[in-house]
Amino acid sequence: MSQVERVKPDLQFVKELQKVGGESLKKCYQCATCSVVCPISPADDPYPRKEMVWAQWGLKDRLVNDIDIWLCHNCGECSDMCPRGANPGDLLAALRNMTYRKLVRPNVIGSWMSSIKYLPILAGIPALIYLLIWIARASVLGTAFPLFKATEHGYEVAEGGKVIYGGLFPGDYCIDLIFGIVAILVILCFYAGIKKLIKGFDAMPKTFVVGQKAKPSFVESLVETIKYEVAQHTRFKQCGGDESTTTRVKGHMLTFYAFIILGIVTSAIAVGHWGGRIPGLDFLHAMGDTPLPLYNPIKIMALVGGVLLLIGIYKLTKRRLNLDAQKHGSSYYDWYLLGVIWAIAVTGLLCVLLRWTNIAVLAYPCYYIHLISVFLLIAYLPWSKLGHLVYRTMALAYARKIGRLPMN
Ligand code: SF4
Ligand code: SF4
Repeated sequence: MSQVERVKPDLQFVKELQKVGGESLKKCYQCATCSVVCPISPADDPYPRKEMVWAQWGLKDRLVNDIDIWLCHNCGECSDMCPRGANPGDLLAALRNMTYRKLVRPNVIGSWMSSIKYLPILAGIPALIYLLIWIARASVLGTAFPLFKATEHGYEVAEGGKVIYGGLFPGDYCIDLIFGIVAILVILCFYAGIKKLIKGFDAMPKTFVVGQKAKPSFVESLVETIKYEVAQHTRFKQCGGDESTTTRVKGHMLTFYAFIILGIVTSAIAVGHWGGRIPGLDFLHAMGDTPLPLYNPIKIMALVGGVLLLIGIYKLTKRRLNLDAQKHGSSYYDWYLLGVIWAIAVTGLLCVLLRWTNIAVLAYPCYYIHLISVFLLIAYLPWSKLGHLVYRTMALAYARKIGRLPMN
């Protein structure tokens, strides 16, 4: 006898889903064209048609714990071919957006990330912290736009000195401490989020045939996922085939590797700055004592990373602006991420230029905006679209482990 399943629709969930990008879901009449045309959907129990039914029925638990929403790379092929304009690609993106929003506590940050009306709160937190530090420092130095000279005791305000951003902070333990605490909290949030995500996957019935005979361990699946999905974007490249997809792949790869380069730069400076204090490791100061000279390899890497980032987000922004709005929506999550990355890249490069030209009155405000932008990207990472870097990687590793995705 077949098993009877009690359906518990959540109508509030349907409304929320429509608000965050799935507004056309009710137009679907279940023709299954989307599942047929999706270039990467498995033949066995394919997506996204089944997700369209679940969404119309308001099956919240099924959807937010559905491994398949993470297999979709949002190429939009299904939305292009949908005869009803139901935009199934957007629905899956909206489901991922809802997951970022609710996976990690405090959920209120997830709510703030979902609408532009809360941006002043999100930006106001770092803006206030840095402003208070700046005001306190200015009152000690006697000026808000100081020019410094390096002395053996640190930086001192001096006539004919230079713009030195680090001089704005009282001692070494200020900016590093703020970002250190933020980094630890972000790691803890991701840990809690990943645990919840995997618990949700575990709880779901596996409606598809669980494939391969020899099951890989989670670590083997994760290594495979990082090697192919993260480093080479293998399935991402198979998703769609038109010019827009090619632009998207290039933009995504450039942005991703720019962040890797900038991450290495930041780590190298931190190691140089703090490691150089250890007796016998003074040579590390050469990569940690900012401002670094232009010919320093770390500085060159930083500039290369900044330029790659600008090219990458230019491509991604141009593609998004050129999308057919009838078939592919852009949510606030998409624009928040692009906007913050633009702000980081532009203010970062402007900070370098303004320091060279020594225009303190513009350099320090620009640096202030840069710090706020970096905070907006990093501190709210577990609730933002960029969090997919972590959540999707884990979901794809899980999919390999259970046989939903093949090992390469
Ligand atoms: S989303 Fe469109 S293509 Fe997919 S089943 Fe519904 S109507 Fe058909
Ligand atoms: S957006 Fe692309 S990957 Fe996602 S379901 Fe549609 S066709 Fe498949």
